[in-house]
Amino acid sequence: MMIVMNAKATDGDIQSVVEMLEAKGYDHHISRGVERTLVGAIGTPDGEKQAMAEQLMTLNGVERVVPILRPYKLVSREHQEETSVVYIGDAAFGRGKVGIIAGPCTVETEEQTLAAARAVKAAGAVCLRGGAFKPRTSPYDFQGLGEDALKILATAREETGLPVVTEARDVSHVDLVAEYADALQIGARNMQNYDLLQSAGESGMPVVLKRGLSATVEEWLKAAEYIASSGNLDIILCERGIRTFETITRFTLDLAGMVAAKQETHLPIIVDPSHSTGHYLLVSPMTLAAIAAGADGVMIEVHPQPDRALCDSAQQLTPKNFQKLMDNVRSLSTAVGADLQRNSEEA
Ligand code: PEP
Ligand code: MN
Repeated sequence: MMIVMNAKATDGDIQSVVEMLEAKGYDHHISRGVERTLVGAIGTPDGEKQAMAEQLMTLNGVERVVPILRPYKLVSREHQEETSVVYIGDAAFGRGKVGIIAGPCTVETEEQTLAAARAVKAAGAVCLRGGAFKPRTSPYDFQGLGEDALKILATAREETGLPVVTEARDVSHVDLVAEYADALQIGARNMQNYDLLQSAGESGMPVVLKRGLSATVEEWLKAAEYIASSGNLDIILCERGIRTFETITRFTLDLAGMVAAKQETHLPIIVDPSHSTGHYLLVSPMTLAAIAAGADGVMIEVHPQPDRALCDSAQQLTPKNFQKLMDNVRSLSTAVGADLQRNSEEA
């Protein structure tokens, strides 16, 4: 890290910084400019950097402490230049491969889930989504059918062959999700639930990590690093919109953040145009925008009868609208050179 001294710092102030570094056993390098002196701390271990930076900030004459390396390593492009390919079942995401994940917000009944699964498969999705454990904005809203829903998802997978992505809302759900599903989703409201991140990492399953409602790209990547440091690099990030002052959409879909994050990390990144916009009319344009901007996939809510859905009615596509969207996705993918993944029916 680099310690930037302010313009009024005295030699004594600089000496105090050097003494603090020496007391902790770190080497240093002093660079005296015309207006500012910089002190480089050499060899600070990762785990001590934050505390060390805060302690240095208490010293007279210290203006700023700047980290030199990124706070995430395993997931960074510095660590691995080439984009990773992450598989959910046989569906590939990343390094040009683009997959569409679709299905209902939540599993309501076997009939509803099977109807959704058949429709999204026929239209070209490569994975089925559906919530069994739902985090809701209000705790009084429907929270999902739990293990019964996982069983229904497994039936839908058996029938359609589509691998299943579903959320574990708590550490206690991880084993259950691992038993029935192909990828474990960590929801936006849980992005910084460190026990869950660790448990997802240890499960060895592919993880879909949603960006927190108010998380910066850096915080999102640090959360991914937490999963990676538990030994699992099969992580797909999902941009799902962030809170801003804007209320006309449910959240603000941060496509520029998605592109910026892709420059920072080798992990594939998909986009959720359903939760980010909150309205079905906005889902198709944002899906196309995401693919044109280089997303490695898109996760879309599709319900056989959105007007009867138990949650997120307004944002779920009908099978017919999803089919239309997929026709446009195919044309766009050809135009932008995205390798759109096909399911077994189309292949
Ligand atoms: C979901 O995908 O089912 C969901 C609840 O999304 P998020 O965590 O992004 O709100
Ligand atoms: Mn939903």
